[in-house]
Amino acid sequence: MRGRKQQMSLEISRALLEETIAELRASPDKEKVILWLGKRGTSEYVVDDIFTPIQITDEDFFRIPEEGMNQLMSHLRNVRKMIVAQIHTHPREAFHSNADDRWAIVRHAGAYSLVLPEFCSTTEKNNFLEMVATFVLNKSNKWKRVSSSNITIV
Ligand SMILES: [Zn+2]
Repeated sequence: MRGRKQQMSLEISRALLEETIAELRASPDKEKVILWLGKRGTSEYVVDDIFTPIQITDEDFFRIPEEGMNQLMSHLRNVRKMIVAQIHTHPREAFHSNADDRWAIVRHAGAYSLVLPEFCSTTEKNNFLEMVATFVLNKSNKWKRVSSSNITIV
């Protein structure tokens, strides 16, 4: 938004965070991606639903095929929500790979992309903020790592 300098924070309930962790852990040996849907508030994005898209995954890879993108877009129209963050797992360290930069599903400046290590096996709601690697898309269309203190669990 014009004149806005500060990064919008990201707010999620403990219940939706638990649901996210359970979904990601359900794939113990392949990457998995989940989308956090919600609304833009005055200074924060509020997550009010999660969505698991149709995806093709492997040990160090995920991709959403065209049918998955079509299903996602029609779901967003129906529920009138936006994607505020994507969150995916890695087999080992959490970072934003070149493929992650290139194939990110969320593309608006200020959007969040979160990455969890070890297929989420070591992450639980109580250590989530320590485990998660948090990235934000800046106005130059570059993913920058930011502090996970931008995320609030309510
Ligand atoms: Zn990745």
